[in-house]
Amino acid sequence: MSSPSYKRILLKLSGEVLMGNQQFGIDSDFVAELAKEVKAAKDTGLEICLVIGGGNIFRGMAGAAKGMDRAQADYMGMLATVMNALAMQNALEQLGVQTRVQSAVQMDAVCEPVIRRRAERHLEKGRVVIFAAGVGAPYFTTDSGAALRAAEMRCDALLKGTSVDGVYDADPKTNPDAKRYDSVDYDTVLADNLKVMDASAVALCRDNNIPIVVFSIREKGNLARVLAGEGVQTIVQKGA
Ligand code: UDP
Repeated sequence: MSSPSYKRILLKLSGEVLMGNQQFGIDSDFVAELAKEVKAAKDTGLEICLVIGGGNIFRGMAGAAKGMDRAQADYMGMLATVMNALAMQNALEQLGVQTRVQSAVQMDAVCEPVIRRRAERHLEKGRVVIFAAGVGAPYFTTDSGAALRAAEMRCDALLKGTSVDGVYDADPKTNPDAKRYDSVDYDTVLADNLKVMDASAVALCRDNNIPIVVFSIREKGNLARVLAGEGVQTIVQKGA
């Protein structure tokens, strides 16, 4: 596979990858490992925007399932993503990588608000910009936040680093015959309800022609391999 020529990417990490081998929360050793991967990618000259989920701490749907008001629970989920963003900021800065966190829920004491032109300037200066709190509204997820930021920051691709190594035609955990796609069209993902990102995020990427690269972030060095076009991955794109 030829090396993709990305200049600017948005890397979306699910909250669950920050747990490492724990059942809940933030494993700081694992976050430090993730930060090394991000630094290695940045050292190749890439501009990097980061979006981190919150599922390792709190998901709105889980709160709603237990009887909470959904919107209230979603705001708690958004706050969880801010904690994860601060943990990643800390890990990156310990490696000497300059970062800024911009949150869609304003929180002046801990980070900047989302200001696109300011984020542009940070990227120009070589900083990693971590976007927290998704789109800043309940009933959305950080996948939608990632697609939105990838579009407005004009990223060349949205890389989704997760626990599985791509997109399958069935759940590989329960179906041993599940096949992984190397490449798949946005419309197939939506029509077949394939587990990539939620539908609104996939549609936003489709409408803005942003390829979605799904890969496992759990294996060391995989982000670099995927960026070199070598790793195991699935690319969601037009006409695949
Ligand atoms: N959330 C939200 N609006 C957003 C982004 C996130 O309401 O724009 C809430 C929602 O409750 C979600 C939680 O934050 O469940 C954590 O985000 P997500 O589930 O996307 O995290 P991930 O699955 O990537 O770890």
